[in-house]
Amino acid sequence: MSEKRYPCKCAICDHQFFVTKSILQHSGYNECGHGRCPKCKTFLNLTFVPELEIMRSMEWSEYVKRRLENERKRKEGVEKDQRSD
Ligand SMILES: [Zn+2]
Repeated sequence: MSEKRYPCKCAICDHQFFVTKSILQHSGYNECGHGRCPKCKTFLNLTFVPELEIMRSMEWSEYVKRRLENERKRKEGVEKDQRSD
């Protein structure tokens, strides 16, 4: 097996390691990756950055928080659009 591995720096301890894309990331869902830092064992969300060919890591709970926040903003935006109709 020679699947391409991408460099990833742990968001918590700065340790660099290499990861392969998840099945979803192969399908273009770049933020749908996760893994554990081999050094500090933090569970991380891994987002593939195609322009740089790297994986960006974020602590999982931080990632969930941001995702909920984005979801909330998106909904508020939709409601605003409906109001202005
Ligand atoms: Zn780490």
